[in-house]
Amino acid sequence: MSKLLVLATHNANKVREIREILPDFEVVGEDSGAEETSETFAGNAAIKARAVAARHPGAWVLADDSGLEVFALGGAPGVRSARYAGEDGNTPKNNALLLKNLEGVEDRRAQFTCAMVLIEPKGTEHVAIGHCPGSILREQHGAGGFGYDPLFVPDGYEKTFAELRPEEKNAISHRGRALAEVRRVLDV
Ligand code: IMP
Repeated sequence: MSKLLVLATHNANKVREIREILPDFEVVGEDSGAEETSETFAGNAAIKARAVAARHPGAWVLADDSGLEVFALGGAPGVRSARYAGEDGNTPKNNALLLKNLEGVEDRRAQFTCAMVLIEPKGTEHVAIGHCPGSILREQHGAGGFGYDPLFVPDGYEKTFAELRPEEKNAISHRGRALAEVRRVLDV
């Protein structure tokens, strides 16, 4: 019988991605319903993972939290990446605000960060952090990906995340790197 892994998300794309990567697990998604009140990615991932684990004793639980940190903006948008332009904001507004806040700024260095918290059936918690360093362009390029992808060029590349193929992005992304560490714990 396959082991149950509950992913603390309502994002069907994330559930599908993890299902493909972890074929030995029965992967289901469940919104944590928890408020993300921490100032760190790992703190927010832990809040979500613990909320779901409390409802699923005996299951493996995985939660993630991610965002973009821009050096010249003191790490913003950071844990507020999804709602940078306000609670009723959206991706176009977030990207426009980021470009506005970087107008005239020469230092374009940034990194994506992803924290994953894995809780074992016996309650042991593991934290995995993945980073992807890069820089922010002055205009958007590419139609793939999501969020800040059209503005972010990873170090060592000349294309944005929105121009790279999904496999190329996953191989170097913050999420891909954190997940590689989680897989080591899961031994798959
Ligand atoms: P979440 O952790 O999936 O909730 O992502 C938080 C926010 O960070 C997203 O809404 C995006 O704005 C941003 N973000 C996280 N990962 C990525 C990525 O790989 N590309 C672009 N934006 C991202």
